[in-house]
Amino acid sequence: MANKIQSIKGFYDVTPDAQKIWRYFESQCLSIFDQYGYEEIGLPIIEATKLFEAGVGTHTDIVEKEMYSWTDKLNKDKLTLRPEGTAGCVRAVIQGSLTYNGPIKLFYRGPMFRHENVQKGRQRQFHQLGIESFGLTDPSSDAEQIIMLSRLWKTLGLEKIIRLEINSIGDKEDREQYRKELIDYFEKNLEILDDDAKRRLHKNPMRILDSKNLQMQDMLEKAPKLIDSINEDAKNHFNLLCQILKDNQVDFQLNKRLVRGLDYYNRTVFEWITTDLGSQGTVAGGGRYDYLVERLGGKSTPACGFAIGIERIILLLENANLVNNIHPDIYIVNLGNESRDKSFTIAEYLRDQDYKVAVNLDSASFKSQMKKADKSNAKIALIIGEDELKNNLIQVKLIRKDGSQIELKEKDILSFIKNNI
Ligand code: ATP
Ligand code: MG
Repeated sequence: MANKIQSIKGFYDVTPDAQKIWRYFESQCLSIFDQYGYEEIGLPIIEATKLFEAGVGTHTDIVEKEMYSWTDKLNKDKLTLRPEGTAGCVRAVIQGSLTYNGPIKLFYRGPMFRHENVQKGRQRQFHQLGIESFGLTDPSSDAEQIIMLSRLWKTLGLEKIIRLEINSIGDKEDREQYRKELIDYFEKNLEILDDDAKRRLHKNPMRILDSKNLQMQDMLEKAPKLIDSINEDAKNHFNLLCQILKDNQVDFQLNKRLVRGLDYYNRTVFEWITTDLGSQGTVAGGGRYDYLVERLGGKSTPACGFAIGIERIILLLENANLVNNIHPDIYIVNLGNESRDKSFTIAEYLRDQDYKVAVNLDSASFKSQMKKADKSNAKIALIIGEDELKNNLIQVKLIRKDGSQIELKEKDILSFIKNNI
């Protein structure tokens, strides 16, 4: 036998069972995003490497060590598999002048690629569902996105295990001032910094606050907090956001150390966190990025967005034992070719009435077909054997109720099903 070829590390198949949960999750997202008026944009998976260098920032984990980049063999272009969706979305908005007629609210979904250490909830190909709005400065647009996410968790039954942390990191000038203060503070604590932190000290000191190194936590806790020194406008913006969240019964915790990993944020930053997935606990994160459109060559446009890590939500839904809600309504058991032909006719007739119908397609015994019918989670099994075929009858078994079985005339089948599903 030939050697089996395996998928590469960090890249996974989504099994049909898991796919059912994905579809359920996505359908809930899509209907909620529709309710709030977000429109879907389709974006390429490959972009120019410089888009991410400029958009995400050269001193971030993503650009420093996580991107899949290569030089195209034919035209020598430097290309990258997208590690996140915002930079590409901003590029598309600028390129297509999508804010020409005013603010626009978008969402995208699909795979992202980061070459990082593989763990549960941390893959090299993972999927995000992201929301971005362009042209809106008011904290009500930040609030709307957060309220929408809160509704999503409720719809999915996850609201008790996901909590919201928010912070404001002010505007550019606040960050520049704070950067100096922070470097001073870290230099005074140089002996506590680990190698990663030392390397970041002058490049991206705010990222050090994100460190999960236990030895550094005490020192990080005592570091000066950016939100304590942000400008009045940013402070008002943040207070208003908090007020809107309170008015809409969205609980949150202020986390003064929350800075987010990417360079482009300003003012609002937020993360939704669960304690159920260890250190892979952030299930969604986002914030405001008022400078990014201009930085990528567009007209200065305020913006705000977030991304949900789909795999992490799927893990939570799996843990929550979400009922498998995509299954046939009806399973047709049949014996022999003629009976199978009849089953097809009846199945098509019932599908015309919008029922989900599975027809047994192998020549398994009656007993094993009944087992499959049960396992399929269908509500009703129809049995068409030789006798039934001869007399235009169908045996109907209520497999999810009391298991009782009755014999019906073929013409009465639809009204019976209507009354029993
Ligand atoms: P983390 O701190 O867990 O590395 P991040 O800050 O790098 O997350 P973002 O860039 O904000 O993540 O991406 C948004 C969301 O995408 C994360 O909150 C997470 O749910 C998900 N995510 C990010 N990286 C991965 C990955 N490698 N595998 C699976 N999901 C991921
Ligand atoms: Mg990361």
